[in-house]
Amino acid sequence: MSYVQTTLDRLQASSPGQNEFYQAAREVLESIRPLIEKDPLYSDQNIIERLVEPERQLLFRVTWQDDQNRIQVNKGFRIQFNSALGPYKGGLRFHPSVNAGIIKFLGFEQIFKNALTGLPLGGGKGGSDFNPKGRSDAEIMRFCQAYMSELYRHLGSTTDVPAGDIGVGAREIGYLFGQYKRLTASYEGVLTGKNINWGGSLVRKEATGYGAVYFAENLLNSRNESLDGKTCLVSGSGNVALYTIEKLYQLGALPVTCSDSRGCIYHDRGIDLALLKEIKEVRRGSLEEYIQQHPDARYLAVKDYPQRGHAVWHFPAQAAFPSATQNELTALDAKALIQNGVICVCEGANMPSTAAAIDLFLEAGLAYGPGKAANAGGVATSQLEMAQNASMTQWSFDEVDQRLQKIMRDIFTLSHQTAAEFGQEKNLVLGTNIAGFRRVANAMIQQGAV
Ligand code: NDP
Repeated sequence: MSYVQTTLDRLQASSPGQNEFYQAAREVLESIRPLIEKDPLYSDQNIIERLVEPERQLLFRVTWQDDQNRIQVNKGFRIQFNSALGPYKGGLRFHPSVNAGIIKFLGFEQIFKNALTGLPLGGGKGGSDFNPKGRSDAEIMRFCQAYMSELYRHLGSTTDVPAGDIGVGAREIGYLFGQYKRLTASYEGVLTGKNINWGGSLVRKEATGYGAVYFAENLLNSRNESLDGKTCLVSGSGNVALYTIEKLYQLGALPVTCSDSRGCIYHDRGIDLALLKEIKEVRRGSLEEYIQQHPDARYLAVKDYPQRGHAVWHFPAQAAFPSATQNELTALDAKALIQNGVICVCEGANMPSTAAAIDLFLEAGLAYGPGKAANAGGVATSQLEMAQNASMTQWSFDEVDQRLQKIMRDIFTLSHQTAAEFGQEKNLVLGTNIAGFRRVANAMIQQGAV
């Protein structure tokens, strides 16, 4: 039996019911096989067994009071997966679907993503099954305070520095930071994604979406193509999707879709970004409001989606940017994308494509940018925020943006060169996983059995 199956069997026995984690682990373990077979050092050092086991997992109760004075209880998570390359770094997700397996898959992916940036960042992730939807600002604040009341003792600017993710944006980071400061009497860069007036970095808000588009442009340029003039499908309408759409417009592309958990919009004239920001960032409303102002756009509710598929991927286009959540792009969707003329898929979300969809992309020779590489701009800019906090300076928008562009170019080049080194130039899944793995594994070996 191969080491991949042995490892997965062991994980399933010791950590049952964590399907997303097995999915993420299988992808990495299968892609690094050519390296493991070539270099016995990694097997001799038992690196794989060490790497799939988190250094530390925190699970705690979060008790808070709602607006009706009822006591509510949620689960809080933080996984400190690997610190070989730096302090644990990875976002917090507040969503009812959050469980130990989701946090573990996200933390595992984060190790390799952070390694790819070349920056001193370990891998971690956290969150809660708390559902922010429909909660008042005061409830969100009390929840964040309760969550931080436990988490603060495990954080520190050189220990563990969380950021945002689904359901955690600027508002939540503010409340979390305020509580951390109150509990520790210390003003330190212990969270990223902070408001620009008190320690945040310019471009952090835009970084993941912008980064995914920069990555796609590098990828297309390597095939003598560009985004200019291309029609693009984008899913999601949160932080990553909004700034993906913004950068696509800036590079001359035409984004025609967006989605949320209830449905999707198709607007062949191009998504009205100002309206979308107003609905999602200001009003925190539903996409159905979009068609009230644009009756020429189409709205499809989730109940009208194809079985085992997502309508957003079934429109004609040349590029696709999944930017909502995991496994939102299935084999059925991948077939539709390929049939409809898509030549590039670049992932703003974490693990948005199922394993079967990825196989189809690679078979069809698509320019495919896996999330680990393509969405690393967010965490990379978080590290730039940490660097500014540590030196008590603030860089201009242009300076941070230039650095982000260089980081995304370097990630693309490293992934591409690594794929070529192993004779599979077009397979960036292999390129990103081997490049990320090699940096972490070498650091672990050099640091001894800890
Ligand atoms: P947001 O909370 O800002 O937005 C998430 C979007 O995805 C919303 O439109 C939401 O719709 C939709 N969505 C969430 N869950 C589901 C679901 N189960 N089914 C359908 N739609 C869903 O999150 P972000 O934009 O920050 O994150 C999006 C993705 O990008 C995630 O995979 C995240 O891990 C990844 N990512 C984010 C980074 C960042 O810097 N923020 C960095 C790297 C990766 P609704 O509002 O209706 O819930």
